[in-house]
Amino acid sequence: VRVLGIEGTAWAASAAVFDSETDDVFIETDAYQPESGGIHPREAAEHMHDAIPAVVEQALEYAHETNDGPADEPPIDAVAFSRGPGLGPCLRTVGTAARALSQSLDVPLVGVNHMVAHLEIGRHTSGFDSPVCLNASGANAHLLAYRNGRYRVLGETMDTGVGNAIDKFTRHVGWSHPGGPKVEEAARDGEYVDLPYVVKGMDFSFSGIMSAAKQRYDDGTPVEDVCYSLQENVFGMLTEVSERALSLTGSDELVLGGGVGQNGRLREMLEEMCDQRGADFHAPEPRFLRDNAGMIAVLGAKMYEVGDTLALESSRVDPDFRPDQVPVSWRTDEPN
Ligand code: ATP
Repeated sequence: VRVLGIEGTAWAASAAVFDSETDDVFIETDAYQPESGGIHPREAAEHMHDAIPAVVEQALEYAHETNDGPADEPPIDAVAFSRGPGLGPCLRTVGTAARALSQSLDVPLVGVNHMVAHLEIGRHTSGFDSPVCLNASGANAHLLAYRNGRYRVLGETMDTGVGNAIDKFTRHVGWSHPGGPKVEEAARDGEYVDLPYVVKGMDFSFSGIMSAAKQRYDDGTPVEDVCYSLQENVFGMLTEVSERALSLTGSDELVLGGGVGQNGRLREMLEEMCDQRGADFHAPEPRFLRDNAGMIAVLGAKMYEVGDTLALESSRVDPDFRPDQVPVSWRTDEPN
């Protein structure tokens, strides 16, 4: 099966082709870079509008070049797109592109939940059976595990996503978007200063720690120390809740998803925690962690294979699409 995936929930205008026989994934991404501040929804949507046609064109070219099927048939079996969660104006642009492509090639349309795709790419690249997933992305932060036909949200942020929280701090400091890599760099030379650490049961909160970090910076604490402490606390919180999720589900497999998963310190903490409890840890390669259409194409192929496609008239996007709203049609390891 060959599926063309399109991603465009926030900053990444991305198209990909996944071939389930060879396991090859081709990804082409055009990233939106705000001139100042964070992601502006309108500008991000304009970026989608401008960038999606070219990345889709490149993916289609690749699909044609690598197609060994009949030349008069489409080089792909289906078009998959991210239906949400994400910024409404971005999603609508991508949805329109996906519908148009599926109609013009006369192939089915598959609607993918972006957060479930972050999880499934980890399951795909690790070969794990039924892992717990920590999704540490820009706009989200939650733990997912499979039970009775759904991915259940075991714990989540009570306010902002983890990447967005870090980016808010770096905006305050005057660093350009995205802030995560800059915090990681600065933290190498830092020492610990006290900051809040907020875990409530399986949920966690970043707003207090971010305000305190800004305050620390304004009070003259070296920015390296604030960055170091921010990472220790925020990633410590995520690691603590991941451990609790493993313990609760009895799973001995953890996968990481989302752009913040590119952070070496977070991976180190999770790895160490998993080692200590005899669990296996897997972080996909960076191109599959940050937003990318590869993960949309990979999950799209699984859904297409079981006939989980969308009729055009019910293919509208959903900015608040939660992972636990998705009936997991492609897994048969537990009765639905
Ligand atoms: P979502 O998947 O929730 O829609 P998103 O679209 O904002 O999120 P992602 O690509 O998953 O995007 O993640 C982007 C975030 O990752 C940004 O907030 C960025 O600061 C953060 N990030 C990138 N690299 C690092 C890093 N090395 N350390 C920490 N954070 C990072």
